[in-house]
Amino acid sequence: MAIETSCDDTSVAVLEKHTNKSVILYFNKKITSDNRLYGGVYPIVAHESHQKNIAVLVNEALHSLPPAKPEDAQHKTLYVSGANLLRAKPDFVTVTRGPGMRASLITGMDMAKGLAVAWQVPVLGVNHMQAHALTPRLVSALNANKAAASVETDPSFPFLTLLVSGGHTMLVHSRELCDHEILANTTDIAIGDMIDKCARDILPQSILDSAPDVMYGPLLEKFAFPDGEFNGGIARFAAQSEYDWKINRPYGRSGPKGTSSHASSFSYSGIGSCVRRIVEQKPGMDDTERTVLAKETMRVAFEHLASRVLLALKTSDAKDIKTLVVSGGVASNQYLKAILRNILDINGYQDVRLIFPPPKFCTDNAAMIGWTGLEMYEAGWRTELAATAINKWAIDPKAGDGGILGIGGWRKVT
Ligand code: AMP
Ligand code: ZN
Repeated sequence: MAIETSCDDTSVAVLEKHTNKSVILYFNKKITSDNRLYGGVYPIVAHESHQKNIAVLVNEALHSLPPAKPEDAQHKTLYVSGANLLRAKPDFVTVTRGPGMRASLITGMDMAKGLAVAWQVPVLGVNHMQAHALTPRLVSALNANKAAASVETDPSFPFLTLLVSGGHTMLVHSRELCDHEILANTTDIAIGDMIDKCARDILPQSILDSAPDVMYGPLLEKFAFPDGEFNGGIARFAAQSEYDWKINRPYGRSGPKGTSSHASSFSYSGIGSCVRRIVEQKPGMDDTERTVLAKETMRVAFEHLASRVLLALKTSDAKDIKTLVVSGGVASNQYLKAILRNILDINGYQDVRLIFPPPKFCTDNAAMIGWTGLEMYEAGWRTELAATAINKWAIDPKAGDGGILGIGGWRKVT
């Protein structure tokens, strides 16, 4: 059983791993707190929402536990009110211990400890960002053939992850279960945030008015490529020659003596303000020009992502990398997929595979926490009952806090 309460989603999942390493997800549900009034996640509202919903979701999840087998010992079974059969008791409880909002984390931690004490099973307090990095391995285990004799968990380490969402723009190098290095991070706003802001400037008012929510990214993609075709591949749209504006690449200039400066930085606020200036200078811009502007905005933003991936792949440390995972809301953009594939190919990385996990496992969810618990459990790790929530917790062993295993509260069983 897994619990996630680090931010504004209260989520509970039930997973089972089979001896051949395939995984079944019996339950994976979340309730997101309503923060619309506040224009962003508001900690007290999120905390109250967790308090209201966590027990309800756990109780509901118990009804999805598989039935106990006749040979199961009594202490391996659970009586769940309302059903006339005994259920299989979870072998352990996993919970997000950090990073995140402290009060929110504590709600989940206390629930997980309570269950672990009542059921007399171990608790595992895992790192939320590690769980995001391991998500593609969960997805492959879920897709694995249940009948196969044995399946390999894919992707194997090492691999790269590009986390591109409304809140993150990060390139992560995952070397091992507990060794993840952040190779590049945004120095200002996240790429999804920039896309939403640009879409508000570029899209015709009629489209904005019909939007179901403020997540304008998919609308911008649809507006730029209505038939999903990239008109002759991903070639430049020659914006400069057709129109009197240009969007500059972030950190476009190289560093001293031709070195690439800012290799570990993404920057997206510049594209946002450039697009705003272009639109403000041309109040009567027609839809054709707006379409070109939409394409150019995405091209520059996505090529900036690709540039840091290339820099990372060129380092000697990355020679064994055969997989790039692209996760987060922006990863559903088809143009991004085409650009990344194209840039990898023309730079000699045809053998680097691209993986795009389904968005439902890329946003916060308890299934990824459960999977991380499974991997940590199998590696022999347990969390002490006295362990407390941590609002800041790195995933890089070289970080000041020592990363995933650097903090107190872990216990290794042999
Ligand atoms: P997340 O933070 O992972 O929930 O992702 C949400 C962000 O992804 C928002 O900024 C969306 O506008 C953006 N997004 C979702 N779909 C697309 C798309 N097809 N193209 C560009 N951005 C997108
Ligand atoms: Zn998250």
